Amino acid sequence: MNDCIFCKIVAGEIPAAKVFENEHVVAFLDISQVTKGHTLVIPKIHKENLYELTPEIAAHLFEIVPNIANAIKGAYEPIGLNLLNNNGEKAGQSVFHYHLHLIPRYGEGDGFG
Ligand code: 5GP
Ligand code: ZN
Repeated sequence: MNDCIFCKIVAGEIPAAKVFENEHVVAFLDISQVTKGHTLVIPKIHKENLYELTPEIAAHLFEIVPNIANAIKGAYEPIGLNLLNNNGEKAGQSVFHYHLHLIPRYGEGDGFG
């Protein structure tokens, strides 16, 4: 049995505030948002980290990132946005299903960085 929390979100077994979904990719709000609108984008297929992504999986994922960034921009009106991806425990990865953080920025004191 797959014990991965993000696979469970993909399967609809645990709830998540999904902001985008297609055949290959899901985006949802981070449960512990570092800033308002902090969103995670994941491939539906379980891949532990960047090293395991195939070019095809990476292409499917990054294909929709600009759309999601624009949706965040429209909804939250940040003044900037960071993309972040932690690979490996020592790099800060805590969920071992590949995910890209989209972190909207609101200026000094926004809680990140
Ligand atoms: P990492 O530290 O691996 O780069 O990021 C993992 C992220 O997943 C964290 O920001 C954490 O808040 C988020 N997260 C962990 N569990 C859940 C969950 O069950 N639902 C959602 N929406 N986010 C989660
Ligand atoms: Zn998984």
